[in-house]
Amino acid sequence: MSAPAVFGNRIGGASVPAASGASFENRNPADARDLIGTFADSGAEDVLRAVAAAKAALPRWRALPAPKRGEILFRTAEILVRRKEEFAAAMTREMGKVLAETRGDVQEAIDMTYYMAGEGRRQFGQTTPSELARKFQMSVRMPVGVAGLVTPWNFPMAIPSWKMMPALILGNTVVIKPAPDTPLSTVNLLLALEEAGLPPGVVNMVTGGPEAGAALVSHPDVGVVSFTGSTATGRKVSEAAARLFKHCHLEMGGKNVVMVMEDADLDLAVDGAVWGGFGTSGQRCTAASRVVLHEAVAREFTERFVARARALRVGNGLEAGIEMGPIINAAQLARVESYVAVGQAEGATLLTGGKRLAGGTQAHGFFHEPTVLGDCTPAMRVSREEIFGPVVSLIRVGSLEEAIEVGNSVEYGLSASIYTRDVNKAFRAMNEMETGIFYVNAPTIGAETHLPFGGAKNTGNGHREACVQALDVFSEWKSIYIDYSGALQRAQID
Ligand code: NAD
Repeated sequence: MSAPAVFGNRIGGASVPAASGASFENRNPADARDLIGTFADSGAEDVLRAVAAAKAALPRWRALPAPKRGEILFRTAEILVRRKEEFAAAMTREMGKVLAETRGDVQEAIDMTYYMAGEGRRQFGQTTPSELARKFQMSVRMPVGVAGLVTPWNFPMAIPSWKMMPALILGNTVVIKPAPDTPLSTVNLLLALEEAGLPPGVVNMVTGGPEAGAALVSHPDVGVVSFTGSTATGRKVSEAAARLFKHCHLEMGGKNVVMVMEDADLDLAVDGAVWGGFGTSGQRCTAASRVVLHEAVAREFTERFVARARALRVGNGLEAGIEMGPIINAAQLARVESYVAVGQAEGATLLTGGKRLAGGTQAHGFFHEPTVLGDCTPAMRVSREEIFGPVVSLIRVGSLEEAIEVGNSVEYGLSASIYTRDVNKAFRAMNEMETGIFYVNAPTIGAETHLPFGGAKNTGNGHREACVQALDVFSEWKSIYIDYSGALQRAQID
């Protein structure tokens, strides 16, 4: 274990301790004896300084031609490629998911950074004919100003990059407040940006918890807020931003569903449900926490799925052969345990798992068994509420129609999937599921950066990240009319 380090906030290119002098610890969830570092525990005063630095950096950054901004992003991506292994290992140590997955997380940041570097030479607007002679018209994107980013811990480099890169390529400057469980991965992303030549003050970071987050999203000089986290926190962020008419983008909770039809390839469906349900220890917004089973295949699927869940190797994600890492922290582990109890009290059958793991090398971490609850009904809390842990609820249905109805019966609308060999069933589900993401013969997880990402219903507020849609969050459209007739021409009148 390497020595713990002391990290300040990043303000105007300098490392600055919290104004109060307070700090908090970041520990390895696989072994809480392993102290990764201490980080500034920021409050409103620190946010004021960071926003002032971002505001001061704005005129020069905005004036830099977008292709030049793109070159800095391109170099950032190359540095991330070079340092991928190092940053992935640091991320596993910080938040627990297995190395293959943290490599994927850094890769997502790489993909997004290359993608947005390319937007430096696109950012397409419109040109369109005028209704009047000798008049030209077009639309262009403008940056909003200072972007306030608040991020969760489960994708600690990917999600900051999804927000930061589109903000930067458009000419915004940034203050980011990462989750207190994963500040190191944001520090590493900033290292790459700074090594690539990002000017001081263009991206600033304040670490800490809700106090810093709340100060950032309600600061009058922050023009656009982009938040990913729970629906409960998202509601507070939305209310704070609304008071000042800020642009506000929210990505929130999920209760995603895999639907296994009577004609499904069961080997494929079991593989998908295991990966979707237990990848990242079930701590993904897109986790397949519900599996809806057609009664014709329910028994066979359940037997195979339970056997696979039971056989998963749980442990420190840095060790070879480990398939599922720890839960992020003690509070989240207690929450997972409480949901297992709630499910059983409601009448669900515990088919495997259900307990924390605390023996041997797991004694100092926050581990929980992969857990499957059978005989669930759609009305149970374990079928409706986001657990955010390795707990999958199995629900039986008699038809495609019923599967779709059950699938749509939750408040969230992030991701859904269907396993079937019948193209008609696949298309009906694709059409009728109320989700922002849909998969056929694949689990609910695995989005790519060049399609829009986000959810319907209480998962989102109508925006999308990734792809060109991300540019909409961080820009204002300006429509420009140039009259070269030399005379007054009146639209709609002449
Ligand atoms: P969280 O809501 O507890 O925290 C998210 C961030 O908000 C953290 O940085 C936190 O410090 C900050 N925060 C807390 N209170 C705040 C306040 N009042 N004002 C401003 N900021 C505040 O979520 P989490 O536990 O870090 O992450 C898990 C949640 O994130 C799950 O619900 C998951 O579904 C969701 N998530 C959604 C997506 C998506 O794209 N839809 C992706 C990943 C995670």
